[in-house]
Amino acid sequence: MNNLWSKEKAREVTMGYARHGELLALRIYAGRLIGSHPELVLHGGGNTSVKGEVTDLFGQQVAAVFVKASGVDLAHSSPEDYPALSLLPLLKLRSLAALSPEAMVNQLRSSLFDPSAPTPSIEALLHAFLPQAYIDHTHPDAILTLSNQPDGRERLKAALGAEVIIIDYIHPGFELAKAVAAAWEGQPSARGMVLMHHGLLTWGDSARQSYETTWELVNRAETRINAARKPIAVASSRSIPWSQLAPVLRGALAHPTRIPDHPWKRFILRPLDDPDTLNWLQQPQAAGLFVSAPLTSDHLIRCKPWPLWIDDPAQIGDRVAQYRQDYQSYFQRHAASMAGDVSPFDPSPRVVLIPGVGGFIAGENARLADIARDITRQTLQVKSAIAAMGSYRGLEEHQLFDMEYFPLQRAKLRRHHVPRLEGRIVMVTGAAGAIGAGICRRLLKEGAHVAATDLGGAALDSLVQDLAKESPGQIIGVTMDVTDDGSVSEGMKEIIQTWGGIDQAIINAGLAHVSPLAAMDLQRFRQLYHVNVEGALLILSHLARLFEQQRTGGDVVLISTKNVFAPGASFGAYSATKAAAHQLARIASLELAAGDVRVNMVAPDAVFSDGGRKSGLWAEVGPDRMRARGLDEAGLENYYRNRNLLKAAVTADHVANAVVFFLTRQTPTTGATIPVDGGLPDATPR
Ligand code: ZN
Repeated sequence: MNNLWSKEKAREVTMGYARHGELLALRIYAGRLIGSHPELVLHGGGNTSVKGEVTDLFGQQVAAVFVKASGVDLAHSSPEDYPALSLLPLLKLRSLAALSPEAMVNQLRSSLFDPSAPTPSIEALLHAFLPQAYIDHTHPDAILTLSNQPDGRERLKAALGAEVIIIDYIHPGFELAKAVAAAWEGQPSARGMVLMHHGLLTWGDSARQSYETTWELVNRAETRINAARKPIAVASSRSIPWSQLAPVLRGALAHPTRIPDHPWKRFILRPLDDPDTLNWLQQPQAAGLFVSAPLTSDHLIRCKPWPLWIDDPAQIGDRVAQYRQDYQSYFQRHAASMAGDVSPFDPSPRVVLIPGVGGFIAGENARLADIARDITRQTLQVKSAIAAMGSYRGLEEHQLFDMEYFPLQRAKLRRHHVPRLEGRIVMVTGAAGAIGAGICRRLLKEGAHVAATDLGGAALDSLVQDLAKESPGQIIGVTMDVTDDGSVSEGMKEIIQTWGGIDQAIINAGLAHVSPLAAMDLQRFRQLYHVNVEGALLILSHLARLFEQQRTGGDVVLISTKNVFAPGASFGAYSATKAAAHQLARIASLELAAGDVRVNMVAPDAVFSDGGRKSGLWAEVGPDRMRARGLDEAGLENYYRNRNLLKAAVTADHVANAVVFFLTRQTPTTGATIPVDGGLPDATPR
């Protein structure tokens, strides 16, 4: 670990937050520094504090402790993330024999100077009970490496020296806060404290002193580990590509909901298949080493108490079922010990390890899966380091349960709004066009993970860039030529390699051409046939095979056209090829229904643009129609508006609404068409 403290940066941050005072500004700077070390804390782990004063309404100075709010990522923390608590009422709590988690949170919240401030960390009392100005609590890899061994205490003592106190694992909260304070009073000259199987505490009169003590102690531990480590010789090899197993595993992990139209809660699956991971998974006794308790109790809510290990990929279904049973038994064994009613979390594993293939990390969305993935990578690394110098011993099972179902930890997972298409992976073809762009934008708002596919190029790149600003991690651009079997296959593989599968698809890629039959250029007709018919066929047949592997149903929406029902003169190539695609989609609805796959159509009329994006249809039809009717662009739009019953201008957003209607399964419908055309009696499906 490097010492990253910079006087200049510290001064810069202090000036930037001058309004909040130097004490808190330096707290922000040092906290961010700690957050920038992945070897110290990951994703909202760890907490830090500073003591100072707050001026109350009467102008009195009141002693206060500023503690990082629960769940906040230190790396991106700001003054609002350090709610101020009145110190004296908190210190009084120490005399109590016991304090329930709920009562503790009540006390914390009622001690806030600003009642609307976020809830402080569950370790807030620990920060209050220790007297030092600055306190840092982290979960350093090196400390966990030494602490999670049967002779961890001796190893830590040898590495860190007598000036560091070591205390046994105690469940975070009131009991831990009291134990830490008592241990410090027993040795007030100590510079830091190790909490076994949990992490490190350091302190100081200044932010810098506390940070540098963390740095020094972690370095001592790292030196010790490097000296003791025996190299492990492993020949790693990849037996099956990650993307080949992912859809099967993702299907097996999907959790049955018992809701008729929405039978599955699906997860996003992120790959962990770098060469280091493959090495770690293939070392001797890897299964015994890795199917064990997490490095620190903080990781439990992200990764579950243990990962699922699968030696034989042919056994995926059975092994997942076995894991769920084991998890349910674990819940039964310990639920009785919890005060009050507690219901089990879903029993599916979040981390699945398959030697020769890699790690499969599940989350409700990609952001959550990525957090679990970073934690898993660090876990594999630290446990491998432990195996190279000794053996692993983590927390006991009842300690795991207490922490996994600790109400204050559960609160971290609670979300106010779960979007309707969360966990869903949707492929959109022809995404860079006007309708495609409108659909992608809307699907992202509904929480879907969107693979925007199109011929590669600036149009696709700029769409993905634009949309990723609002929905980072939720959209990828994939180059796909729907007329080329190999390109479709490769594109779908890329989507699977990113998120683990595909649940829903919008077949939207299409070409238009204006020509009377008498003058039809056969080559041009065939071009439309390739994209509109063969393109739809290829996507449908690849999806049918993938849905079969996943076994969690699926939804397909074909963007059809009003021309299927009411063709136009000089529009033969478009009307005929789109009609063929429409018919293929109806066939798919017949063939795939047994596997709970719904295939429906949306038939828009005259969508020429989406914001600044013109549709391909416009490029082909617009100029020609304007010429023929002697109209300008606005005039032509008016012409189309005036020909429908509702005198409505049809937009890409309208088409997206119809798509979302089908993808969210509002009605038990398949093989059907929603017209989005403002009402065209000739084009009403029948
Ligand atoms: Zn902790």
